[in-house]
Amino acid sequence: MRVFNFSAGPAALPEEVLRQAADEMLDWHGSGMSVMEMSHRGREFMSIHEEALTDVRDLLQAPASHRVLFLQGGGLGENAIVPMNMLGKRDVADFVVTGSWSQKSFKEAAKYCKPHLAASGETANGFTRAPKRSEWQLSDDPAYVHLCTNETIHGVETFDIPELGDVPLVADVSSHVLSRPLDVAKYGVMYGGAQKNIGMAGLTIVVVREDLLDRALSICPSAFEWRIVAENNSMYNTPPTYAIYIAGLVFKWLKRQGGLKEIEARNLEKSKLLYETIDASSFFSNKVERESRSRMNVPFFLADESRNDDFLAGAKERGLMQLKGHKSVGGMRASIYNAVPLEGVKALVEYMKDFERTRA
Ligand code: PMP
Repeated sequence: MRVFNFSAGPAALPEEVLRQAADEMLDWHGSGMSVMEMSHRGREFMSIHEEALTDVRDLLQAPASHRVLFLQGGGLGENAIVPMNMLGKRDVADFVVTGSWSQKSFKEAAKYCKPHLAASGETANGFTRAPKRSEWQLSDDPAYVHLCTNETIHGVETFDIPELGDVPLVADVSSHVLSRPLDVAKYGVMYGGAQKNIGMAGLTIVVVREDLLDRALSICPSAFEWRIVAENNSMYNTPPTYAIYIAGLVFKWLKRQGGLKEIEARNLEKSKLLYETIDASSFFSNKVERESRSRMNVPFFLADESRNDDFLAGAKERGLMQLKGHKSVGGMRASIYNAVPLEGVKALVEYMKDFERTRA
């Protein structure tokens, strides 16, 4: 029996995708072999790779000015890969810190440059808001401005992406890419690990504006130098072939669902139901300012924290899994990515109401 999986990542995948991957495991399209066993330069895998690239460009509505790259190294790898590719002759980069992930990006950048804290969303309640552009204090000539547009741990999402003129915006979109349309043209770089809305761990997607490909530092490893990766169509080194195949199946699934507009409508309905339940309750709470609440990751707390284990045990009995909050903030967190159906959120809110009524 499949459970409702609220993991923050690696996370739930569409059942159709898993079934198709299972069906094709031993013999992909009559090739007599698994995708895992194919040469990445052979005709079969090249067709999988090209189709995945075309489909993700299509879903993202990526303009011709931007390249889509398939890499490895995950979100944290990008914290080093971004400065090594983006600093050029400059030695300052600006950071908007809205939670743990952008804080990690800010700290790692200090190995390569002088990171400048342009704004922070930290309040007395922890990270609870995305500072507005009017609050950002940018340095004079930063190489780029970095932000994490969806903070997976704190549940803070940035909806208002400003125009920064000549300064490129670099965004960690790991945990909300493909959850709704994003205006790619506004970003110099977008990056994200695949293990949420894209597919399985092991693949990192980087979307980079072509004119930014000439800024890499000489210390940048060739396998992570975006210009080299772009020139080799993401085949400079062996790409994570199976993860690209799974991502390709997810992209096709998303297209069958009607694309990002349609998935956004569903995600809105799911998150609205959960936040309304939390707000109507006197037992559950969420601390994030309303206009910055993530539609993907919903942290919530019980008024009586000594009931946390009871809550998780009861959830498990109903097949509601992986609801424990990140250890750095405690409480609960429901990650409701694209592959988590509305029925899963309905089952969760029913359980929350029952818990509050009978055991709180
Ligand atoms: N950024 C964000 C927004 C994340 O959610 C995560 C992982 N949950 C990371 C970065 C780190 O990704 P990875 O573990 O793939 O390095």
